[in-house]
Amino acid sequence: MNYVDFEEIRNDVALCSRCSLCDSRLKTVFGEGPAKTPVVLVGEAPGAKEDEAGRPFVGLSGRFLTELLEEEGLPREKIFITNMVKCRPPENRLPSKREMEACRSFLAAQLACIRPRLVITAGNVPTRAFLGTREGISTLRGRTFTCSWERMQLTVLPLFHPSYLLRNRGRKEGSPTDLTLGDIRKALRLVREFTPLF
Ligand code: URA
Repeated sequence: MNYVDFEEIRNDVALCSRCSLCDSRLKTVFGEGPAKTPVVLVGEAPGAKEDEAGRPFVGLSGRFLTELLEEEGLPREKIFITNMVKCRPPENRLPSKREMEACRSFLAAQLACIRPRLVITAGNVPTRAFLGTREGISTLRGRTFTCSWERMQLTVLPLFHPSYLLRNRGRKEGSPTDLTLGDIRKALRLVREFTPLF
């Protein structure tokens, strides 16, 4: 399906029954943020809070990541935030390959509408999905990759998953949170090369 605008995608996501996650969800979590922005952040899947609110990254770990982004001058209102799958996997398990496959065209349509300069991935699940690798986030984070995904050329910068950061909250030099703050600064520098006023 070739979508002409965001609202069409949103409507299809709201009615979606392509996989069994539709049976247990409370709300679909389309994503939020401006339709025109150079930065899209992609997480793995909605959790309990996101499922209740119908909004991404509003639970504990999402709020922690939001704080870190703001601290580095990248407020969440300026970027589009979404997930690999738009419905919560039960018991907060990882989304399965089949579920991600079922949801893939929604994310592809969102990215095709936005055409971001940079896709920030949070954690292993979206990072591996975009880069087509089994490599772990510890070696991939903070580096930029160019990849072809759904016939789009994307620049991807992986971050640690925020729930990992929550479990390692210390900010000592070299800690996961300290590294992530540096990675966010790098993301911002990169985007400003193309969009100086961002
Ligand atoms: N909240 C989300 O919406 N997705 C994640 O991956 C983590 C927290």
